[in-house]
Amino acid sequence: MTVILRDKGCLYSTIGWWLVIIGALNWGLVGLGYFLSMNLNVVNLLLGSWPVVEDIVYVLVGAAGIMLLIGCKCAKCRTDTPAV
Ligand SMILES: [Zn+2]
Repeated sequence: MTVILRDKGCLYSTIGWWLVIIGALNWGLVGLGYFLSMNLNVVNLLLGSWPVVEDIVYVLVGAAGIMLLIGCKCAKCRTDTPAV
């Protein structure tokens, strides 16, 4: 469960990891909602009243995905995670 709990890495990589998980789950719900003819987009349901904030969340999730792809370069992450 160490991968799930993400007890390694710096604060930024942990936040980024959770953002990617949130984005993936939300996207799954969006697809599911299409088949159920319901709006299950949690980000939209929570932040739909503030479209700018909603869009910022999407951008953050995308940025977090890029960050995870590239990998964090800080000292803590370099020492904790083996070189890929
Ligand atoms: Zn880091």
